[in-house]
Amino acid sequence: MKNVLPLILPFLFLTVILSAQQVTVIDPPFWWADMPVAELQIQLYGEELGYYRASVDYEGIEIIRQIAVDSPNYLFIYLDISKHAKPGQLNIKLTRDGNKIDVPYQLLQRESSQGRYQGFDSKDVIYLMMPDRFANGNPDNDSIKGMLEKANRQDPTKRQGGDIQGVRDHLDYIQEIGMTAIWFTPIIENDMKPEYGAYHGYAATNLYKVDRRYGSNEEYKALIDEVHRRGMKVIMDMINNHIGDQHWWMKDLPTKDWVNDIEKFGTTSFRGSVASDPYASNYDINKLTKGWFVPEMPDLNQNNELLGDYLIQNTLWWIEYSGIDGIRMDTYVYPDKEFMARWAKQVLDAYPTLNIVGEAWVNTVQMSGFWQYDDEGASDGYQSNLPSVTDFPFANTVRSAFNQNFGWTQGLRSLYYLFAQDAVYENPMLNVIFLDNHDMGRIFETLGKNKEHFKMTYAFLMTARGIPQVYYGTELMMEHENRGGDDEGWRQTMPGGWPDDTRSIFTKEGRTTQENETFEYVKTLTKWRNTSKAAQKGKFLHFVPEEDIYVYFRIHEQQTVMVIMNNNAEARTIGRDRFAEILDGFTSGKNILTKEAINVRRNFKVPPKTTSIWELEK
Ligand code: CA
Repeated sequence: MKNVLPLILPFLFLTVILSAQQVTVIDPPFWWADMPVAELQIQLYGEELGYYRASVDYEGIEIIRQIAVDSPNYLFIYLDISKHAKPGQLNIKLTRDGNKIDVPYQLLQRESSQGRYQGFDSKDVIYLMMPDRFANGNPDNDSIKGMLEKANRQDPTKRQGGDIQGVRDHLDYIQEIGMTAIWFTPIIENDMKPEYGAYHGYAATNLYKVDRRYGSNEEYKALIDEVHRRGMKVIMDMINNHIGDQHWWMKDLPTKDWVNDIEKFGTTSFRGSVASDPYASNYDINKLTKGWFVPEMPDLNQNNELLGDYLIQNTLWWIEYSGIDGIRMDTYVYPDKEFMARWAKQVLDAYPTLNIVGEAWVNTVQMSGFWQYDDEGASDGYQSNLPSVTDFPFANTVRSAFNQNFGWTQGLRSLYYLFAQDAVYENPMLNVIFLDNHDMGRIFETLGKNKEHFKMTYAFLMTARGIPQVYYGTELMMEHENRGGDDEGWRQTMPGGWPDDTRSIFTKEGRTTQENETFEYVKTLTKWRNTSKAAQKGKFLHFVPEEDIYVYFRIHEQQTVMVIMNNNAEARTIGRDRFAEILDGFTSGKNILTKEAINVRRNFKVPPKTTSIWELEK
């Protein structure tokens, strides 16, 4: 052994130097043995690599094919990794005439799946936050040398310096409100020009790297491990549709069709309806799916098979690497829908316990239902393979229900009509329901700062069918900030998240009286929901609203919950006979907030301007 070492060391040194010189990017940066998929695509980038031939000498691994593309600087290699291949370092040998490059590649041992990729469903309550805006746990990473945008707290359209450490520092707070899952807007690198404002994270410049202003890949993984230890879950935001114009691909595209041609297709029409429209023209389909989202976000051509494989693998890599429990896929209706169906299928085949919610931002129940699983009502028979959709019709309906109350389908009646259409969904219990998010005005503002309506909508969110998602700050009834652009008003920083803040809403002492009142209300309802089988997964049964009162039940084997939304300014007496089919089995109801009791064998009174929740008792 002593004699061999001196021989090996210089050799290793030489290969590292050579590969460092010539192979500047290896994606994915590493992989694992015994993955649920056998095939692995490796994208190598470096000067004239397309002229090299690759070979691998490793037990259980074979090269299936290698592909040179339009740019001579890429080499795509497909490996078949059999179940016999052991973790270790393989050497991808590249040769061209007399030149030789050794590319070391790690095949890691997979972590135990225990407590990882758990999925999420209607038992959960999702807390949505923007990492740049939540809390700054590490002021040293606010601005990174060599990255294009520095933090600027004076300008709300710019980065504020929030990060992964900030989230980690406040997990107690998130858990205290009763949230069981966290969805962050994207944490991947967005090294974009400052004038663009990429703090939102949807303009990726490297799909394998956490933005250093949020932290590192290791910190992200450590955060997820910590969240898992606490019995919570993480949902990762991903984007198949587009990248940022500063992505390194853009300087030297692998193929001419890697991104769709903006000269030809311009920007997208934003008309998501086109994707499910049986009468759509090619012009409209191209405009929707091939137009760029904005001029700074090149539209990816997922129909290029190499790119399609790259994107699918990128997803698998993040799941395996970080153990995330779910994915929120951005702009779901904008890419080619057949590709999205392939992506969803391959991801869920590999990780069946995971859940995916697609941002299907469409405005009717029919169109929303098109995107969930296999919708037999769709004339083209589209099978999306997507379990969860963002329920925009739910959000839109709740947001308008309190602002109009004149017609047959308005006011609280609109909530009834919303659910009366649920037959178009394969599984409406998997719809992600919400009052607001980072792309729309905060709910309290939308309700004209009406506190009673705010409370009514939150109680509705906690008892409706589906998976509730709560936008950060809602627990404080946050208002808009009047500065910055359209979006910045509702993407403010959390007071107390920054070292120089004058107060901290993360503590009872730091919150105003009103904030504490809202906080307690949100916390009590959310925590009650976490213990209520009926609210989580009970059968939904409702009655056509009369006199602006909407009554519905959630029925589970051991628990029946009655919810009464009374939008009248005075207390109302409820005639029990209309609800006899449910109430006959019970004698009383207990209000989950006030602990007040009602006798359901007679007519009973409900409070004004309240969504009251009653646990029925025999
Ligand atoms: Ca920071």
